[in-house]
Amino acid sequence: MQEYKLYIDGKFCDAEGGKTADSINPATEEPWAKIARAGRVDTQRAIAAARKAFDEGPWRRMSQADRAKILNQIAAGLEAKSQEIAAIETQDSGGTIRKTAGDMMFGAAQLKYFAEMAEKLPLMEEIQVPQFPAQSKNYLQREAIGVCGQIIPWNFPLMMAVWKLGPALATGNTVVLKPATDTPCSALELAKIIDASDLPKGVVNVIHGSGAECGEEICTSPLIDKVAFTGSTEVGRRIQQLAAGTIKKVTLELGGKSANIILDDADLDMAIDGSLFGCFFHQGQACESGTRLFVSEAKHDEIVARLVERTKTLTIGDPLDFNSAQGPLISARQRETVLGYIKSGVDEGAKVAVGGKRPEGLPKGYYVEPTILTDVKNSMKVAQEEIFGPVLVVIKYKNIDDAIRMANDSIYGLGGAVWSKDKEKATVVAKQMRTGTVWINDYHLLSVAAPFGGYKQSGIGREFGMEGILEYTEVKHIHVDQVDNRAAKFWYGALFGA
Ligand code: NAP
Ligand code: MG
Repeated sequence: MQEYKLYIDGKFCDAEGGKTADSINPATEEPWAKIARAGRVDTQRAIAAARKAFDEGPWRRMSQADRAKILNQIAAGLEAKSQEIAAIETQDSGGTIRKTAGDMMFGAAQLKYFAEMAEKLPLMEEIQVPQFPAQSKNYLQREAIGVCGQIIPWNFPLMMAVWKLGPALATGNTVVLKPATDTPCSALELAKIIDASDLPKGVVNVIHGSGAECGEEICTSPLIDKVAFTGSTEVGRRIQQLAAGTIKKVTLELGGKSANIILDDADLDMAIDGSLFGCFFHQGQACESGTRLFVSEAKHDEIVARLVERTKTLTIGDPLDFNSAQGPLISARQRETVLGYIKSGVDEGAKVAVGGKRPEGLPKGYYVEPTILTDVKNSMKVAQEEIFGPVLVVIKYKNIDDAIRMANDSIYGLGGAVWSKDKEKATVVAKQMRTGTVWINDYHLLSVAAPFGGYKQSGIGREFGMEGILEYTEVKHIHVDQVDNRAAKFWYGALFGA
């Protein structure tokens, strides 16, 4: 079995008391790696190391060009090991090798973008203020927030680590990263790459431990300045409460139930495959998945027939096999949750058009067939709650306003799409959707240069783009007074008289 240790203060180390935990391969249901399992004391050690590296170390004082150079080293290291880490992540997470191989490639490219931002971001700029009450020069200085606790989920383990570390490091912060219990291995592989780079010791610490123990320690520690979290809305709510005690900065990337609207003039060849990609990519375990499909009454039957036909062509099986389009879900618990949602849909009157159960011929592994439910009302549980599995619900609309109204009738607002040959018309619809990202004639394409995040209960703050980078900075106003004469200092009169 592969073995992993914690990465604290630039050293790979055991957890206190030598505790370990196994990672289960979701395709085989067998343990495949053994990982040191951090508890509260290990978490405190990691936090102390990050604090010391921030307060006393060279990292935040380094030139922007030097920080960029180190981020590029890490990107190159990831690129060089991408095939190996993709296979590790597939065994750890059940994501197909097609997906994890792509994730490594994107992850390395994204790190290069963050390196570029590390170098180009204007950290000091002069601003113009009206010259009242006195003459002055004014500057904005952006600086690192400090120690960032970063807590990530199991669906895109390596990419999530990159999305968190990239902007934090680009701006000179130090980090304690806590990957999900189910998928720590690729983040610990990244720690090896980081260890081999010139990044000063203690700047990045990676600990494998539970949310309840290590996650909560991160959210309450007075030594941590910011918490960045990606995961469920339920845990996000808890994190916001815990962070309130020390008024930490909090950014949250949470759940979704994104609407995908096919307009009647859409290119159906594209819209059908795009909608299936939008929902079934990574077995539906993506927060921005297009899980509610809105189609007109007129086109409904044709679209459903074609969706079913294409779904039947998807190959489910061993995620290490490049021929597999669909792998297993992350865990037995997740599989049971998904099957429970399908049953709840049927209980409320939905029909299973395709899928709906565990696939035949795969007795091992946490697989669920890609499933399409029809006769769904937007008020049903399957249309309101995040399932986080391969379940697409199809909802009929009467006209475009009706579609937009239902699309927005959700506590979430993360992703979404509109399909139409008329891009201007689609843009008019997109503008009315209360959600952080809308794709027109595509799905899932996230760019590190464009902000990503949630409206409503899908989150707080943004990742990527200038908006995302600035989430890792404090802004300081420096006022340099230009009145060099006590008697002319207007405000002194308030205390000393004229
Ligand atoms: P989760 O249960 O919320 O867990 C996410 C992370 O939080 C894990 O590292 C988890 O640790 C940790 N955690 C759990 N309880 C905690 C607590 N009380 N305090 C601090 N940390 C805690 O989510 P998940 O089930 O892993 O992932 C699925 C969910 O994430 C979905 O709802 C999905 O929509 C959402 N998601 C959102 C985005 C986005 O960008 N908006 C991206 C991906 C996923 P353990 O692993 O030890 O439990
Ligand atoms: Mg695992």
